[in-house]
Amino acid sequence: MTGLFSSESDGKKVFYKTDEEIELIRAANLIVSKTLAQVASMLKPGITGREIDKAAEEFIRDHHGRPAFKGYHGFPATLCVSYNDIVVHGIPGDREFKDDDVVSVDCGVELNGYYGDAAFTFAFQNVSEPVMELLRVTYASLYKGIEQAVAGKRIGDIAFAIQHYCEREHGYGVVRELVGHGVGRSLHEDPEVPNYGKRGKGPLMQSGLVLAIEPMVNMGIKEVYQDSDGWTIHTRDRKPSAHYEHSVAVRKGKADILSTHEFVLEEIKNNPSVKEVSPKN
Ligand code: MG
Ligand code: MG
Repeated sequence: MTGLFSSESDGKKVFYKTDEEIELIRAANLIVSKTLAQVASMLKPGITGREIDKAAEEFIRDHHGRPAFKGYHGFPATLCVSYNDIVVHGIPGDREFKDDDVVSVDCGVELNGYYGDAAFTFAFQNVSEPVMELLRVTYASLYKGIEQAVAGKRIGDIAFAIQHYCEREHGYGVVRELVGHGVGRSLHEDPEVPNYGKRGKGPLMQSGLVLAIEPMVNMGIKEVYQDSDGWTIHTRDRKPSAHYEHSVAVRKGKADILSTHEFVLEEIKNNPSVKEVSPKN
């Protein structure tokens, strides 16, 4: 789940984690990652968000985790399921997926007092090439952001890398209103991690900071609006949007990615209803 820009941030909730805590966050993220893989195995035209959400909740509880989104500021479900022009925070419902949908599935789990948070945007078999390109570019931008998540750099270095790649190099719109965030003993901690900004600006990162980095990138204009349900975020021009997320620990030299898409990518290979997506190179 993303943070609302400036909604709860006063810069005072930055917590550096010990190595032991980072392993606990990794453990929570392992359940997140396997839950997303469970979703990947179930996706087919005709299935609903509500069905995959129910399976995800069961999977998480079977693994002794707690669905972190359920009840968070009143959010009613385990997953955020956001298809086509829905950017993020979609509430799983009874609409049946179609063979040309793209759907972002975002999952958070609390395990032993620590949180994991990751997301993946899936493409059904008949998604068009221009939309596949949006997914590949957004996915690549996640790793461009992660490359900057090293000790001694600033949050603005992550933000700039994502924005520059998506907007300048590819002409897409990077969402401003929603941001990545610190994660650990809470689902949303400081600092905020915007997907746009200036190099060398923003909070300094040191080893032990754990961040959820999550570019939200629109095919068209960057502007979004919130649905009357109080959650669902749509693109204003109704064009598709993509969203990929990892939880990462800032380290010296190279970030340690605590969530993994490995299981998801494996399940996609085995699921003929869903297209393979890899970061653009
Ligand atoms: Mg998330
Ligand atoms: Mg998040």
